[in-house]
Amino acid sequence: MKIEYIYAAAERVWSDPQGRWLFDEPYYNHTLALEEYDLTLLPEQPIRLIVMPESELQDGASGLHLRQLLSRTDDANFPLLSRAAQVITWSRDHRFCCRCGEPLVNHDHDLAKQCSGCGLTQYPRLSPCIITLVTRGEYCLLAHGIRFPEVRYSTLAGFIEAGESAEDALSREVREEVGVEVNNIRYFCSQSWPFPHSLMFGFFADYVSGDIVPEPGEIVDARWFHYTELDEAPIPPPFTISRQLIDAFQARWTKPD
Ligand SMILES: [Zn+2]
Repeated sequence: MKIEYIYAAAERVWSDPQGRWLFDEPYYNHTLALEEYDLTLLPEQPIRLIVMPESELQDGASGLHLRQLLSRTDDANFPLLSRAAQVITWSRDHRFCCRCGEPLVNHDHDLAKQCSGCGLTQYPRLSPCIITLVTRGEYCLLAHGIRFPEVRYSTLAGFIEAGESAEDALSREVREEVGVEVNNIRYFCSQSWPFPHSLMFGFFADYVSGDIVPEPGEIVDARWFHYTELDEAPIPPPFTISRQLIDAFQARWTKPD
């Protein structure tokens, strides 16, 4: 099977005039590429990422920011785009060794960089996070975060700290952000989230105690939503794990087995 190519500049993926952004043969002159990475995870789906200078890509092509593309792509392409986005960001942000300061060069067979001085190998960074829908019977807890660009109510999320389990991080984040206690934490699914390098672990959790107290500086508002309110609520778009948690909760009540 032919190798397929993705072309990108900075955090934008480039397409041809027909809007295609995956190519089964070279579309641009690869001798102009700034960097090239093998993104292949499955041998039957070989993919190469070609990072081009922006000046070379402007002719007849259009660039879509990865966040825009992710919001309109179908599920099948989400992991690939997420992987491409993270490799581009990682490559841009990791030029020198964090131990000795010498320049990094691409590893000869791994998707990694190696220090030209001390030999330290550095792989693309992943930051594990928890994301959780807290439920209380027919209600679920959603919050409007201070950093959201618009009025949107979403699930609670946060980074897992060094030394913490995912379950411990979940209990701590929920306590910090809305002041309630939870138990019966159940794993749902995970999603790679390339802004810039998160790996989201999705869970359901049951409410135990406490009144909602939004964390100052983090949460503008948080409240309980009845499952019948969710169709009209400003919740995240379908491609997000947050929405998948909300949809699964709603389906439990509207489509019982
Ligand atoms: Zn070094």
